[in-house]
Amino acid sequence: MAKKSGVCAFCGRKASEVRLLIQGIEAEICDNCAEQAHLIVKEQFGEGGRSFNSKGLVLKKPAEIKAFLDQYVIGQDEAKRTLAVAVYNHYKRISQKVEADEVEIEKSNIILVGETGTGKTLLARTIAKMLNVPFAIADATVLTEAGYVGEDVENILVKLLQAADYDVAATERGIVFIDEIDKIARKSDNPSITRDVSGEGVQQAMLKLLEGSVVNVPPQGGRKHPEQKMIAVNTKDILFIAGGAFDGIERLIAARKRTNVIGYGAGGNEVLDKNNMLQYLSPADLKKYGLIPEIVGRLPIITHLNPLDADALKRILTEPKNALVKQFQKLFAMDHIKLVIKDEVLDFVVEKAIEFKVGARGLRSIMEAILNDAMFELPSDINATELVIDRAYAEAKLEKSGLQKLHVGD
Ligand code: ADP
Repeated sequence: MAKKSGVCAFCGRKASEVRLLIQGIEAEICDNCAEQAHLIVKEQFGEGGRSFNSKGLVLKKPAEIKAFLDQYVIGQDEAKRTLAVAVYNHYKRISQKVEADEVEIEKSNIILVGETGTGKTLLARTIAKMLNVPFAIADATVLTEAGYVGEDVENILVKLLQAADYDVAATERGIVFIDEIDKIARKSDNPSITRDVSGEGVQQAMLKLLEGSVVNVPPQGGRKHPEQKMIAVNTKDILFIAGGAFDGIERLIAARKRTNVIGYGAGGNEVLDKNNMLQYLSPADLKKYGLIPEIVGRLPIITHLNPLDADALKRILTEPKNALVKQFQKLFAMDHIKLVIKDEVLDFVVEKAIEFKVGARGLRSIMEAILNDAMFELPSDINATELVIDRAYAEAKLEKSGLQKLHVGD
């Protein structure tokens, strides 16, 4: 016979304090905790459904992949379409059983070029969530050539191994996002005789991973030393997505376009959209910027992200599945408080994000600054049931918080 205690075994609230108490064999759980548990399960196993079943891979069509991305990432349609096709083809390739005479599909790693805070990492992360494969972010700036101070390139795979709980088979079909690849560009266009520790040498080392080879990975990371047992990881089926802001690349694109126009003379009167030069990006520009040709060759899928305007920033606040406003509303709802944020507040937050030049990255800090007092005080206020934020409130709180300047990455 099930025991009835009348309280939630997870949060301790009484039946009178919750909407619903669900009876288990030994205990009860309230609707709020059940919902939390559901979220944890979703987080753990992804919500795009399982990509792998017992028979192998279940592929989503590019349009479905894009629709999934649309739930989390605002705008960036061109990047989403390119990514959707690339990921679809990549997983088709993995599921392909190569017969002796069959066409073997080659791996296609991806490079995303766009200002910081425009959604490059978010896109890569969302793809990994959908596919339910291990995902790791590596920062190219900390990498150096073996034998120098800094991290060896193999450490990129340590993170992926860890994300896969050291399951090598899962690791070998994971996704790695290499951030700030532009920072390991060769400093000059001219391959120099002196060794360029932070540039070309690292690119050479990274090439090995991108090409697909068996790499010996020190399981705990750090430097290789003879006593450490290595784990062999084949990178053949790991999808690499590189991202970078490539500051100033617009000038190289413009210069190339101009040369072309002069070179081909008549008919070369293409009107360039100067506000969005990235749309004309080509592998030649990446080489000119300082990526070695072999690396550019191993990142054959090139796409760009657009700068986010006020309209996009406002949509980011409210529309994505886990939009900031929804997250704060959820936090307050857990204290049984209805949070109402007026439209004028969203405009104010966007204005500040633009003023601070932090793009989407700053939205969270600004919202936190505005809501922090309320998040401190209201949980102890037993009479509080609703909080309405208007522009005057937001302005006052932001001023009080002293948040005057934000730096990207804050
Ligand atoms: P990047 O890798 O391009 O520097 P991120 O993907 O890390 O930028 O973006 C930083 C944060 O800004 C994300 O976590 C997300 O909250 C928000 N963001 C950026 N771009 C978008 C977008 N297009 N749609 C939704 N949220 C975005």
